[in-house]
Amino acid sequence: MNAPTIDRIETCLVDLPTIRPHKLSVATMHGQTLMLVKLYCSDGIAGIGEGTTIAGMAYGPESPESMKLAIDAYLAPAMIGKDATRIEALMAYLGKLVKVNHFSKSALETALLDAQGKRLGVPMSELLGGRRRERLPIAWTLASGDTAKDIDEAEQMLEMRRHRIFKLKIGAKELDADIEHVAQIKRAMGRRASVRVDVNMAWSETQAARAIPALAEAGCELIEQPVASPAALARLTRRFPVALMADEIIQGPQSAFDIARNDGADVFAIKIEQCGGLFAAQRVAAIADAAGIELYGGTMLEGAFSTIASAHLFASFADLQWGTELFGPLLITEEILTEPLDYSDFGLTVPDGPGLGIELDEAKVRRFTRDGSTQVTRPAR
Ligand SMILES: [Mg+2]
Repeated sequence: MNAPTIDRIETCLVDLPTIRPHKLSVATMHGQTLMLVKLYCSDGIAGIGEGTTIAGMAYGPESPESMKLAIDAYLAPAMIGKDATRIEALMAYLGKLVKVNHFSKSALETALLDAQGKRLGVPMSELLGGRRRERLPIAWTLASGDTAKDIDEAEQMLEMRRHRIFKLKIGAKELDADIEHVAQIKRAMGRRASVRVDVNMAWSETQAARAIPALAEAGCELIEQPVASPAALARLTRRFPVALMADEIIQGPQSAFDIARNDGADVFAIKIEQCGGLFAAQRVAAIADAAGIELYGGTMLEGAFSTIASAHLFASFADLQWGTELFGPLLITEEILTEPLDYSDFGLTVPDGPGLGIELDEAKVRRFTRDGSTQVTRPAR
């Protein structure tokens, strides 16, 4: 039997508006750009993957534009004509040709897994070991930059039964202002909701050492990436009982192993793009499990495709002690799928159709596509 091969790879940039400005310590986002990749195979099956960053290049080394370039110029030409079913072998081959570029590789691996799931008639989660849960708890990020607005937004989310875990983006303001902001929101929520913070590496170790006990005292139960340095995060983890989470410093299995070996965090935020794809993210989760580190399903504020790819993976984890933050599609004003995702009852339902189990609304997305799409295809013989 001839294995199906990759015939054509298309990429495009989709610029979508967000429901409100999203303020982080590194930047304020006013919209979101998805890099979508469509992979067409010789058996007529196609898969879709997505690469998305937080605030252009403010968060990490790749941007939607750089991902598109890396795929169009380097990765896609190397994939044309290759066996579409040997996904880990193909990703290992691409890893030799192109260094790092984790986000680009994650988008391509997602498209390959989507296609393979459709080919075999199984959801992507079944290609990752099988799901252990059908629904995932979904945190919401309060990041309007205004305490009263954030409290209103949290009340609405509770009322709609959409979210009861809230993550606050802090680190841009003075320490005392940030601590007061968190305390006010936790006081308003009381026991109805969990309140956590993400500092996105903004603090020095001494600032963190001052803020952490005050945040714990205010009822904050998880503090994400307070400092940039892995060594400083390890020292803070040993020093304070409140749960500290590593996010930005997890750049795949090797960095995860280094952090775990140094008792460098209580919790890992797993992100498929940051890890370099779903299989790499799975290895990071295995390292965490082996080290007794707890898990959280993170987001790059992705649109539906990378969000659902992440959902298939997180559904397969043995433990997911801190839930997930797969709310990216809810931050975007436009529905880009033919059937909307099921966000209800404080969770997200993992789709059960073949592959990702979702379908792109092509006509809708065309309106938001920048400069059309680029194709890399097999040369005519
Ligand atoms: Mg984070």
